[in-house]
Amino acid sequence: MSRMKPTALLSFTFVVAGLVYQAVPEAQAPAAHLAMTLDVDATDAPLRILHATMTMGAKPGTTTLFYPKWIPGEHMPSGPIANLTGLHVFADGKEIEWRRDLVEMHAFAVTVPAGAKTLTATYDYAVVSGGAFGSSASTNAKIAVINWYTVGLYPMGESPDAITVAATLKAPAGWKHGGSLDVEKVDGNTIRYAPTSLAMLNDHPVLLGEHFRSIVLWPAGSAPGEHVLDVVADSEWALQFPPARVEAYKKIVLEERHVFGDVGHYRKYHWLLTLSDNLGAFGVEHHECADDRVAENTFVDDDAAKRSSNLLPHEFFHSWNGKARRPVRLTTGGYEKPMQDDLLWVYEGLTNYYGELLSARGGLISAQEWMDEIASDAMSVSEPGRTWRPLQDTADSSPFLYTAGGGWAGWRRGTDFYNEGTLIWLEADVTIRRLTHGAKTLDDFCTLFHGQGDNGRVWVKPYDAADVFATLNTVAPFDWKGFFETRLKSKSADVPLGGVDGGGYRLVYTAAPNMFTDPWALDGGLNALGSLGIHVAADGTVDNAWPGFPAYKAGISSGMKIVAVNGRRFSIDDLRRTIGASKETRAPMTFIIENGSYFTVATVDYHGGLRYPHVERVAGTEDVLTRIAAPRVK
Ligand SMILES: [Zn+2]
Repeated sequence: MSRMKPTALLSFTFVVAGLVYQAVPEAQAPAAHLAMTLDVDATDAPLRILHATMTMGAKPGTTTLFYPKWIPGEHMPSGPIANLTGLHVFADGKEIEWRRDLVEMHAFAVTVPAGAKTLTATYDYAVVSGGAFGSSASTNAKIAVINWYTVGLYPMGESPDAITVAATLKAPAGWKHGGSLDVEKVDGNTIRYAPTSLAMLNDHPVLLGEHFRSIVLWPAGSAPGEHVLDVVADSEWALQFPPARVEAYKKIVLEERHVFGDVGHYRKYHWLLTLSDNLGAFGVEHHECADDRVAENTFVDDDAAKRSSNLLPHEFFHSWNGKARRPVRLTTGGYEKPMQDDLLWVYEGLTNYYGELLSARGGLISAQEWMDEIASDAMSVSEPGRTWRPLQDTADSSPFLYTAGGGWAGWRRGTDFYNEGTLIWLEADVTIRRLTHGAKTLDDFCTLFHGQGDNGRVWVKPYDAADVFATLNTVAPFDWKGFFETRLKSKSADVPLGGVDGGGYRLVYTAAPNMFTDPWALDGGLNALGSLGIHVAADGTVDNAWPGFPAYKAGISSGMKIVAVNGRRFSIDDLRRTIGASKETRAPMTFIIENGSYFTVATVDYHGGLRYPHVERVAGTEDVLTRIAAPRVK
């Protein structure tokens, strides 16, 4: 890990809401209450608890300590306040009372006595197994992912860019550490980080673990700059992945930077990759790193690696699209300020398109597999809920859609701006190529929109939809506003397939499995959305039933459990075979369904066999998709 002097760190310029200012003026020391120390003791991480001590300069009168609520990259008020425990507050070492605000429950008011110099809070963060993203399980017997915001009280109302934090982290004995946060010194198992702003600290999670590999894809000083895969796993076995995988990720770095004209808005980039079956499974982006968590076998098993291939390119893409260029209503300047998610169709939609595409350009998957992934995206957003909820509303309501569970996803819709975003941005790419006779592509938009500004420096520049349309118009003049608004407002049952059609292909359903739709190899369930309109978990529970489709019409709904198929005790294999054989018989399928404490029989008169989405070449048309998937870097 490279090191940088603290003074250099303090000179980052942030652009927030159109204003350019220094995070902390270099010539003057910050006000005492804006200088914090944060000491995190993670030695009890295997016991699933972190201990923290925060100290700041005291200001007499009322001070409100705030626990981060609206978390960048998570797009919702997911700061895990319920897990903040053991709180005590002291003024010059003498304990003082705290009181939670009755409306803003992440805020704690304390009265600081006159003359007190320091305010200290000690508290624990209880690591639980529920929760979403950063507040899901983040430690186990061998691994800890430290997201500083989970242990970060700070003075409410102050800009996180204006607060400096000198942080230390004590790791369990023998555990190694990774991340892109600048390390000043390592003393035994205590890591002392170079002071930085609270915003930067929270943007730099740290990885700790017993089984650890740091793989330098590109070293500091190389043409692309420092790019590192920091990996922790539950076992040494999970770290023994093939060298070809590492070579592919080296290519991903080059292909990804190429999209942005080889300009990056980070000093160095580290993927923090966690290989475990009992931590959360997700990715969260940061400017200079990503918190990526996948199953233990993901990098040793070729099939699992392909299914997860879009994750690392996706989060890396966010360094430009989401972190540096950020929707204006997500650029709030404080963790207490609500975020508005209306532009996630750019933030996540464009990223989802490129995350999948760059997996192909970098060689993690083939061009054909990339097309299967697009077909899978199309099926996933074919649910009946699209006839009442426009795509725009999936973005607007994402603060609760991300965590909405309990079935009914097909009627409720989910965060479809990811997968439908892929389809729409593919269509935008195909449209640019058509309008410019192949001279320009969506890469040109990315270079113009995201690749401008200082190379190798962290910055934020907000944008609104009009800026997106204007830049697209400089690439290829067109009614881009109309193009996107039509698709964002649509309540048509038809999925936008203009990119597939214009790319020389058509969407078809066949009996051949699609590795991106059928997760049986991952969780033991069966995706029968294309046939019966249900998704069935390994134990027979129907976790998604699409209204209007054969199973639902027969009385099988979300939350029910299939206990027998055609008189035989339920198993996934038998269900798959029965659906497959439905083509060969005129007899309907009968299901015994458990609905709470009652059993019913459902008769499903379906004869279409298994149906999985794929794309198929249309003869006599230009094969644009293959050209899009081709590597750009020789
Ligand atoms: Zn994303």
